[in-house]
Amino acid sequence: MIKVVDLHKSFGKLDVLKGITVKIEQGEVVAIIGPSGSGKSTFLRCLNLLEQPTRGQIWIGSQEITNRQTDMMKVREKVGMVFQHFHLFPHMTVLENVTYAPIKVKGMSKSDAETQGMELLGKVGLVSKANEYPSRLSGGQKQRVAIARALAMSPEIMLFDEPTSALDPEMVKEVLEVMKSLAYTGMTMAVVTHEMGFAREVADRVLFLDGGQLIEDAPPNEFFASPKSKRAQEFLEKVL
Ligand code: ADP
Ligand code: MG
Repeated sequence: MIKVVDLHKSFGKLDVLKGITVKIEQGEVVAIIGPSGSGKSTFLRCLNLLEQPTRGQIWIGSQEITNRQTDMMKVREKVGMVFQHFHLFPHMTVLENVTYAPIKVKGMSKSDAETQGMELLGKVGLVSKANEYPSRLSGGQKQRVAIARALAMSPEIMLFDEPTSALDPEMVKEVLEVMKSLAYTGMTMAVVTHEMGFAREVADRVLFLDGGQLIEDAPPNEFFASPKSKRAQEFLEKVL
């Protein structure tokens, strides 16, 4: 579903991604972990062309998205993203947040978008908040709306960049539960997270990034029990 070959990304003289090669199969959930500044966000952002790679190739399905002719907007329709800081539209209700893109970008009718929107709000447990504005929601609720909003475009892949890092501890679980149920529907997911419990329980593989390189790629039980690299060992000692 995702194939990345020798991906490089530099910002000016700063080489942030230094040749990442990895495949993610359809329906797989990968947890991306690593120290702050290791390039995790940049890597995710390259996967939906929020960042333009400096070098290397990325395929989403059979399409090479790093090809210059690629329509970035089409890629972003296929690859949904959820950020640490929700980025909801503050002047729109919850339901409007969830129906906006399908109506504007996909040309869905308002009533179809609303039917779908209510279904998605059901899946994230927020039907009762459909007509609220984001400012009246808790952080966990906002993040669940952000997930529903991304799903409203029927993406083939979902990217999550530290979706629970901005949340109060008591709200982390409700968001992880939604992500877990999404994973069990067979969604292909790449999740940057500090939630080692989630990585252990839900991920098929853990990708450990350090210094812009993919240092380890292993199933969670293997990675957590016996990380091969010194860098991963040191990282785990700090976070576990
Ligand atoms: P992580 O998500 O693992 O913490 P990032 O991908 O956000 O790491 O950042 C990796 C490095 O790239 C950091 O040194 C960061 O300062 C730098 N960086 C990220 N985005 C930009 C940008 N738009 N311009 C310049 N430097 C950036
Ligand atoms: Mg980051």
